[in-house]
Amino acid sequence: MTIVDLRSDTVTRPTPEMRRAMYEAEVGDDVLGDDPTVRRLEELAAERLGKEAALFVASGTMGNLVALLTHCGRGDEAIVGDRSHTFLFEQGGMAALGGIVPRPLPNQPDGTIRPEEIVAAIRADNVHFPRTRLVCLENTHNMCNGRPLTAEYTAQVARLAHGHGLRVHLDGARIFNAAAALGVDVRELTREVDSVMFCLSKGLCAPVGSLLCGTAAFIAEARRARKVVGGGMRQVGVLAAAGLVAVEKMSGRLAEDHRRAHRLADGLAAIPGVEVEPVWTNILYFRLAEGVALTEAEMVARLAERGVLLLSVGPGRFRAVTHYWVDDAGIEQAIAAFREVLTAA
Ligand SMILES: *Cc1c(COP(=O)(O)O)cnc(C)c1O
Repeated sequence: MTIVDLRSDTVTRPTPEMRRAMYEAEVGDDVLGDDPTVRRLEELAAERLGKEAALFVASGTMGNLVALLTHCGRGDEAIVGDRSHTFLFEQGGMAALGGIVPRPLPNQPDGTIRPEEIVAAIRADNVHFPRTRLVCLENTHNMCNGRPLTAEYTAQVARLAHGHGLRVHLDGARIFNAAAALGVDVRELTREVDSVMFCLSKGLCAPVGSLLCGTAAFIAEARRARKVVGGGMRQVGVLAAAGLVAVEKMSGRLAEDHRRAHRLADGLAAIPGVEVEPVWTNILYFRLAEGVALTEAEMVARLAERGVLLLSVGPGRFRAVTHYWVDDAGIEQAIAAFREVLTAA
């Protein structure tokens, strides 16, 4: 039986081309600046994201933390979306490790934070207050149906933040998905922000790694922050080699994953008992209707018996994510499995 693993795009294994590139990678001690493959990846990432420099980090969480530690000092405040990955799923690292105060503001269903709410949250100069230093955005917005934020919105927030002396960090874990969905060059989405992190290890299929991009001065400081959180890695060109293939070969094919997510949504919507939420990129959320007599765990288990894996993400709610290793046949297998499980329920 073919396994159709829709739990996340992080389950993507490296492609044969990546494994070859890893095997053949030229390496050196990257903490000493000697790894030519890491240097090539950092240059390519900076160029593709339209920034001066980039830094290879172990994960998206590390990239966001290093960015926060570089932009903010202890006691500074960072404005974050209340449904953002940084606020919800990174153990509050900015506070726990950096002494940075998170200031959560409501994420709208489209993943944005209202510009007027950002302005209202910026602290006046007063001895009672932390200093507001940073605004964080997320694109695509994982918890808001994988929705892409537009270039116009990003630029609007960046301009108002800069007008108040704040910096902007973009959690662009899936920024190439956003660019594909909006039909724009990724630079359009990053031009106005001060820093951006993107993941190699999700839809881009690399086994490990993320990149943090920004000005040369920012990246020089970020390199220090990466070292103190234990992210100085040595012959890490073996990983960067896969990252080069990810950026060069995989960033241009994500529209295919989006097309399959839409096909899956259409297929599920046609099954009584399934309520599909809007799909924007490769992330699909759906609910079971009130009358369906299946617990979340039963639903997940019965689909798994049919080779289809997905995640339960709350009462009656589920998430399925398309990626490189799920083809058209896999999508049809998933739809058929749903139909069987729900018809029997
Ligand atoms: C996955 C993800 C991260 C963190 O990446 P890891 O590599 O899992 O640490 C950060 N932000 C968003 C939006 C993500 O989806």
